[in-house]
Amino acid sequence: MKVIPIHQAAAASLKPDPTRLPAPGEALRDRRGRSVHDLRISVTDRCNFRCVYCMPREVFDDNYAFLPRRELLSFEEILRVARLFVARGVRKIRITGGEPLLRKDIDRLIGMLAALDGVEITLTTNGVLLPRLAQRLKDAGLHRVTVSLDALDDALFRRMNDADFPVEKVLEGIAAAKAVGLGPIKINMVVKRGTNDSDIEAMAAHFRHSGHILRFIEFMDVGASNGWKMDEVLPSREVIARIDRLFPLEPIDPNYEGEVAERWRYKDGAGEIGVISSVTQAFCATCTRIRLSTEGKLYTCLFAQAGHDLRALLREGADDTRLDTTIAQVWQQRDDRYSEIRTAATAAARKIEMSYIGG
Ligand code: SAM
Ligand code: SF4
Ligand code: SF4
Repeated sequence: MKVIPIHQAAAASLKPDPTRLPAPGEALRDRRGRSVHDLRISVTDRCNFRCVYCMPREVFDDNYAFLPRRELLSFEEILRVARLFVARGVRKIRITGGEPLLRKDIDRLIGMLAALDGVEITLTTNGVLLPRLAQRLKDAGLHRVTVSLDALDDALFRRMNDADFPVEKVLEGIAAAKAVGLGPIKINMVVKRGTNDSDIEAMAAHFRHSGHILRFIEFMDVGASNGWKMDEVLPSREVIARIDRLFPLEPIDPNYEGEVAERWRYKDGAGEIGVISSVTQAFCATCTRIRLSTEGKLYTCLFAQAGHDLRALLREGADDTRLDTTIAQVWQQRDDRYSEIRTAATAAARKIEMSYIGG
């Protein structure tokens, strides 16, 4: 008889039986025992920036075929899907894109989602439309924003967004979000070695004492157009070592299990920073995120090559039971762990663009 070591037996017992569907409202587990906690919704595949690591202008040019409006999920369709996910355990919804603030009447969607019980609603943005929209978003029930900013040096930032937006516009957006109470604000900086790593210390110095949480993200091989190379990834441990030399740091505990960012605080009390090490320290084992693309496909991993079409079901009149069954099956069959098995070959594969799947 084959003897199964105790630790393997315990792991095996965690694996759900994908043939059994949990009753409606019961929490879901995927094949690796992970629950679904975080739903990211992409509301547009368009953007006013052309960040070199996300929507390089050579690919996303005037001829690029963005989705026509009728292909986008309507707010009512998004709400239906979100409600079913909340019944299955989702506690955090992030609105993203593309640039989510370009979606017309986005505050109406926020209001609809904010009416769902027990869910935190957040939004990730490049920030330039916040001075115009922050108050409306807050009034609609948005809890927090994350703003992306890759450099403080103006010429460098303009080169990175490749649409000539100055740093000042983003700083004004951050100030507007703070003024209406959309904090604590997280600031995301994607670090590309040899491109903007020269600004790491300046960014740290700028956001100390601000109450905002600056997060450094390793440059990832998302999509199929950003020309990703491993040598352009600056490992987070180097970012931490560089900042620590100037402003001593100490690690702090995660807020919850499965938190993506590793947290650090300044020893002198100047605040907190985070690092997201998706390349050098994969966190697939605790990944509880699912993504709903702009046109209503479900993706169980940021690096997926195919999604599950919910829009077709929605538009052919499927009832909630059928939709819920589909969602449950998709999650139960999930086995993704891309960042744990990344190689040069997988990095070169054709993956879905981040602007469409939602960052
Ligand atoms: N347009 C909004 C923004 O930039 O905040 C939301 C969408 S954007 C795709 C979401 C996040 O993904 C941003 O913080 C962006 O910097 C990050 N991102 C995009 N491409 C990335 C890449 N190749 N590697 C790491 N992060 C990336
Ligand atoms: Fe647009 Fe955000 Fe991608 Fe930059 S990272 S191109 S702002 S979607
Ligand atoms: Fe989650 Fe996929 Fe990223 Fe792993 S690679 S953490 S499974 S989204």
